[in-house]
Amino acid sequence: MKEAFLQRMQELLKEEYPQFVESLMKPRFRGVRKHPLKLSQETLHALFPYPLKRAPFCADMYYLPQGVEALGNHPLHFSGAIYIQEPSASAPAEVLGVEEGDWVLDLCAAPGGKSTQIAGKLANSGLLVANEYDAKRAHILLSNMERMGFGETIITNAHPKEFAQQCAGWFDKVLVDAPCSGEGMMKKHDAAGADWSIAHVNACADRQVQILISAIQALKENGVLVYSTCTYAPEENEMVVARILKQCPDLKQEEITVSFGRIGVPCAGMDHTKVRRIFPMDGGEGHFIAKFRKCGKTKQSRIRGKKPSILTTAQKQQLQTILNMPTGYYQLDQDQLYFRLQPFIELGSIRILRQGIRCGTFIKQRFEPHQHLFTAVALHDAFHQYYECDEAHLQQFLRGEELDVKGYHGYTAITWQSLPIGFGKGDGTHIKNKYPKGLRHR
Ligand code: SAM
Repeated sequence: MKEAFLQRMQELLKEEYPQFVESLMKPRFRGVRKHPLKLSQETLHALFPYPLKRAPFCADMYYLPQGVEALGNHPLHFSGAIYIQEPSASAPAEVLGVEEGDWVLDLCAAPGGKSTQIAGKLANSGLLVANEYDAKRAHILLSNMERMGFGETIITNAHPKEFAQQCAGWFDKVLVDAPCSGEGMMKKHDAAGADWSIAHVNACADRQVQILISAIQALKENGVLVYSTCTYAPEENEMVVARILKQCPDLKQEEITVSFGRIGVPCAGMDHTKVRRIFPMDGGEGHFIAKFRKCGKTKQSRIRGKKPSILTTAQKQQLQTILNMPTGYYQLDQDQLYFRLQPFIELGSIRILRQGIRCGTFIKQRFEPHQHLFTAVALHDAFHQYYECDEAHLQQFLRGEELDVKGYHGYTAITWQSLPIGFGKGDGTHIKNKYPKGLRHR
């Protein structure tokens, strides 16, 4: 870790600095966040292989005990019932105050920690647009959203400026969890320590101001903006708040009424008592959060719904052999079928990776379902056939093997502890494995 960084931390933390240095020697905080629509607290405690202690940042967040190895191979993870996340990273979405029915934009969304949390709060109402600028990371975001079964979402891959031009004044809530110098990530990524420089901190700050300008453009009048970073540098935190307040007089700082963390560091041009900082001494690796309201008049670009596709009787019948679809909207994109409970939205030139639930593909006279149809929370109870795996069958299924199970004909949801994991196709004597090749255990 660079000397200049440690010196700045000493100036920032003063008498608490020794505690900070001590925290650098300890293993990093790790957490597991429960899917609020897939799992109750009791079921999580019953199924999780280790004792869990609640973290203060969000009702669904728990500390992973020290020494626990990766949980990416646990069935709770495969079934989208949990998300592994640094505990304090769950604080910004909490501060955003999402309510059912809101239109929410997560402008810097990959890999999806905060988007999956926001979508859980929306509970299939309203709309979440999860945008990621980096194309590769946008696909990771998509796979996490699909694994956790969200459908009333649009996943986009756009530059914030391009996005804001298209969707000016659309959103009740916007989250900017900005790319930053990552001082709170040094224990996880050695590179964050090795690459640290004041020039990088300042370059990140300039980029953060630009991203915030786009975020404000996307907000409705009276809408709420939350800005967060996982760095300690005042240049990227309080000073960015002061810069954006100066540039956008319609933006007002809002109180953050939470019991975790502490107030910010004094800085001219902003109210440091209205922002929140979390240091390792507060139970997380590090986050900064500021909240604003947009007060002035807002120019709104037109919101246009897409004309729904009308399915043929044969197409409906093919779908109905698998499940009873709830009332909603269909979109056919060539042979691909998508479904949403609310109308599909037109997004002009914005690159959309997914809008709604990807149901599957019409191939000649048949319909081949997609994994998303079976993970989607909105459809959990809609299937005609479920096969509940015991431990042995679960492992076989996750490895991509056929299941030696009689009596199932056609597409079948495969569940573990009643949580859908994927699907198979029964022929009466076996269930052929349809778990996506990219997800299988090797
Ligand atoms: N919110 C995410 C989560 O909770 O999983 C983490 C977001 S991460 C801190 C910041 C993201 O911003 C990265 O995925 C990065 O690719 C993206 N990013 C990089 N440059 C950007 C830019 N100029 N505009 C917007 N986003 C950018």
